[in-house]
Amino acid sequence: MREVVQMTRAYIDELPPQASRHRAGLQAFMSRLYWHCHFIQKLESEPEIEWQNMHRGYDGLREESFNEAFFEALKNAKTGWPMVDASVVMLRETGWLNFRMRAMLVSVAAYPLWLHWQPVGEWLATQFLDYEPGIHWSQLQMQSGTTGINTTRVYNPIKQAQDHDPQGLFVRRWLPAMRNVPDSWLFEPWKMPDNVRQSTGTDASSPIQICTPLVDLSSATRSAKERLHMLRKNDKVRAGKKAVIDKHASRKTFSTRHTSAKSQAASSQMGFDF
Ligand SMILES: Cc1cc2nc3c(=O)[nH]c(=O)nc-3n(C[C@H](O)[C@H](O)[C@H](O)COP(=O)(O)OP(=O)(O)OC[C@H]3O[C@@H](n4cnc5c(N)ncnc54)[C@H](O)[C@@H]3O)c2cc1C
Repeated sequence: MREVVQMTRAYIDELPPQASRHRAGLQAFMSRLYWHCHFIQKLESEPEIEWQNMHRGYDGLREESFNEAFFEALKNAKTGWPMVDASVVMLRETGWLNFRMRAMLVSVAAYPLWLHWQPVGEWLATQFLDYEPGIHWSQLQMQSGTTGINTTRVYNPIKQAQDHDPQGLFVRRWLPAMRNVPDSWLFEPWKMPDNVRQSTGTDASSPIQICTPLVDLSSATRSAKERLHMLRKNDKVRAGKKAVIDKHASRKTFSTRHTSAKSQAASSQMGFDF
């Protein structure tokens, strides 16, 4: 790690002033190396975060209501939301996913599907070629809302597809059934009427199936957020927040020599905010 950091710094210093995009890319890379160590430190400070809620006030939130059928559907890329299922297939095939898609998978598991983060995290750990426990378990808990100190981040898989895969290149690459789906049904293909399904070869009699989502996304997400926010208002849970901040919060705002306001904002969005 030290060698990589030192070489990156030396490389940045040698860049000509006009190489601003190149410099920004390397600085973003450097900031992620800081995050790497920051997260590993969290696990060293509290190894229990691999199996128990970082904020114990959240104990019992999801543990007792684990829906095995939902978990199996998630692992088998059959949730019905194309962006989620395509991410699972890509992960299975390549062992890698970018940050946002990892966050989306965990968010879908934790909110609309209401799955406890621990089994979900164990499954993902077996899939990631870059599995790093310190980063992984902190992220699992942050994205599931059990650190008690981070803003609730809920990623809507339909919006993620509209924003990041508007032409369906990603979902069509990893989900063969989506190759037949016309553009107008790309984001919610389960809503295709029977005649369109027939013409695209994805009707009930076909070997290629389009799954219907496991739950209604908006109502399931709304009720999940309500449950979490109810608990968050509880006096004991509020009081417990301070202990988590004392133990895990970053002692100072990190800065690399050239950190821009934009990358500072990105770092807080992506989880360096404690
Ligand atoms: C639920 C979830 C689980 C994750 N599990 C892991 C994991 O097991 N191992 C892992 O390395 N990363 C994990 N990440 C963070 C991130 O998604 C990956 O590090 C990133 O996708 C790696 O991309 P890259 O190889 O292009 O590295 P780059 O983006 O080039 O970054 C270089 C290195 O910096 C570190 N890094 C990058 N992003 C982050 C981040 N957000 N937080 C902390 N360190 C970071 C990694 O060590 C990475 O190899 C997880 C993220 C989420 C949301």
